[in-house]
Amino acid sequence: MKERLDKFLSSQTALSRKEAQKAIKEKRALLNGAVIRAADTKVDTEADTVSLDGQPLTYQQYVYYMMDKPEGVVSATKDRDERTVLDLLPPGLYRDGLFPAGRLDKDTTGLLLITDDGDFAHRMLSPKKHVKKRYIATLDREPEDSIIAAFEAGIVLGDGTVCKSGRAELLGGCRVAVTISEGKYHQVKRMFASLGYHVEALRRVRIGNLSLDAGSQPGDIRVLTAEEAAKVF
Ligand code: URA
Repeated sequence: MKERLDKFLSSQTALSRKEAQKAIKEKRALLNGAVIRAADTKVDTEADTVSLDGQPLTYQQYVYYMMDKPEGVVSATKDRDERTVLDLLPPGLYRDGLFPAGRLDKDTTGLLLITDDGDFAHRMLSPKKHVKKRYIATLDREPEDSIIAAFEAGIVLGDGTVCKSGRAELLGGCRVAVTISEGKYHQVKRMFASLGYHVEALRRVRIGNLSLDAGSQPGDIRVLTAEEAAKVF
């Protein structure tokens, strides 16, 4: 693929497009070992080597981050009033075009993928793919065994929407692990509400074949390898 040098730098580093143009003017960027003055010089992303401040850059078309979303931030790219999950990215991981692939409520914690690969997100979120998501819900009281059959049968939400068959496992006390293959608005909370329970805390622990790392804590963020991303669904 051919890409302008300033665009290449801003997509592969934490620099904005303006900062990349400044870096080029300041002779901090080299293309195949030579100083380049024109920001619109084309880079062949497969064949050329580019370095910034003496550091060679390995071209990565897309990035995938695993975030353990903390409470109190919204799953959006921008929000007028609230902090977003993108605000939590350390400067070294930020690049243009990132967005959260899917949503967790502001008060839900756990696994959220952040990427700039629109096709990946689209396919992962497509209802046709039936990608399973696993949540740990803490309820306001100990659940009855009957919720297992209710999830399996397909819960009818308050507005009459019928959910696909899901799985509930009682973990002891007020905790239940729920696996569903849909992503309706507030789905897990509404499923429990229709059974007469209130969800006090909700944490997503798995999407498809990808689980949160053992010992992961809300706020943790790490880069997924392209191989890990390819195996998610
Ligand atoms: N279901 C919910 O109710 N909330 C979430 O954040 C995710 C699934």
